[in-house]
Amino acid sequence: MPKNARLTGIKALRCYRVEEAAEVSGVSPRTIRNWIADGLPVLDGERPMLIRGDDLQDYIKGTRASRKVSVALGEFYCLACRKARKPAGGFADCTIKDGRAMLTALCEVCEIVVHKPVSVGRIREIARLLDLTTTPHPLPDAPARKEA
Ligand SMILES: [Zn+2]
Repeated sequence: MPKNARLTGIKALRCYRVEEAAEVSGVSPRTIRNWIADGLPVLDGERPMLIRGDDLQDYIKGTRASRKVSVALGEFYCLACRKARKPAGGFADCTIKDGRAMLTALCEVCEIVVHKPVSVGRIREIARLLDLTTTPHPLPDAPARKEA
């Protein structure tokens, strides 16, 4: 994906609008929107959308890393370990919002917070591998039809 995305110009403590994030990362605004669709976090309720610099850095690092390391369905890529890791205790939180799901857990080795965007359609499969706490709860029966 972000083949030539740059990390060096991104300031961790700044928030960026989509166009600014694109400029500073050296990719197109469309690419940034794709990343958001893929799980790059944006600040809640802000219009226009704002992206935290550290989230942007983590996302670019994560996508670079995930091209090299294969991460199983029940695993996360840990930025600190630079390896695929299981979540501590087999626990993960799953937040579903706007038809997207984000898993959050702690690395079982170093215990930093790890994230992984997943498709809503795979949550049931993941729930067989991990002890998931989903928000909202309970899980909707089927992926949202409006996507079709
Ligand atoms: Zn770790």
